[in-house]
Amino acid sequence: MKLSWSVLLLAGFVLPAAAAELQTIAVDVGHSLQAPGARSASGQTEFSFNRRMALQLAEQLRERGLDVQLIGADGNITQLTERTRQARGRQLLLSVHHDSVQVQHLPEAGRFQGYSLFVSHKNPYAAQSLACARQIALSLQEAGERPTLHHAEPIAGENRPLADAALGIYWFDDLVVLKTATQPAVLVEHGVIVNPAEEQRLAQPEVIQKLARAVAAGAARCQPAGMEP
Ligand SMILES: [Zn+2]
Repeated sequence: MKLSWSVLLLAGFVLPAAAAELQTIAVDVGHSLQAPGARSASGQTEFSFNRRMALQLAEQLRERGLDVQLIGADGNITQLTERTRQARGRQLLLSVHHDSVQVQHLPEAGRFQGYSLFVSHKNPYAAQSLACARQIALSLQEAGERPTLHHAEPIAGENRPLADAALGIYWFDDLVVLKTATQPAVLVEHGVIVNPAEEQRLAQPEVIQKLARAVAAGAARCQPAGMEP
């Protein structure tokens, strides 16, 4: 079913030129069991937060009628390019992450909170990626979330140029999952799990559901770009 649907889309039978509704999406669970990403304030892996959020996001997207491919949920992907290979043929790629701060800021991690979004100029659809990130950010803000701007701080490991400060969107050109994607791609940092209060909030089922619903609503407003065969 998945294959024939892709073939129909590629052949142009399903989407007339005027239709601009997103229909297919890949949801990437950031990190893996072997390389689990950041550690939360209480010592949980970022991968565990990403997986929970991605499962909820996939559910919310399916409820909206999108055909969702979940990537990396078993935690066994070791190559970053394997993620973008699996996403081929999808109209949008979202990579699900949770955030940390540089090591010198860990003692004051309690002052960092908020979401952030990343896009890459090296993505073949950079403009569409940014447009899509804006929709997701607007939706998160409608849900009461606020961006964190700490990735723009002029220190080693940060220094990211802001694409849109008000919406919390940064350029991160060399993020592999963004630059090797064959469709518009956005990496979502859902919140700062090294902040103890934020970690607690981000582990609550109702908060996970709220964030996933907001990201899904924003993603559903993205205009699909043309796909590479
Ligand atoms: Zn991450």
